[in-house]
Amino acid sequence: MSEPIDPTRCPLCGGDNRCAMELEKATGQPQPACWCVDETFTPELLARVPAAAKGSACLCMACVRAALDAARRDASQQP
Ligand SMILES: [Zn+2]
Repeated sequence: MSEPIDPTRCPLCGGDNRCAMELEKATGQPQPACWCVDETFTPELLARVPAAAKGSACLCMACVRAALDAARRDASQQP
């Protein structure tokens, strides 16, 4: 049995993903554009998202930032 996908939780770390779209659904209050609109999702990060969670749950900001930092580190280590 796999656990049901909680759309408010990051599928990578289980943290609150603070997705504005889910917040809007939960509270019924219009929210400003989600933080994820301005973030870059690296291919490496997206590859780590479980297939079941793709399109169902947002990642959290911490995981997106961590992946970006890792990608930048990798890029700076290239010759
Ligand atoms: Zn996360």
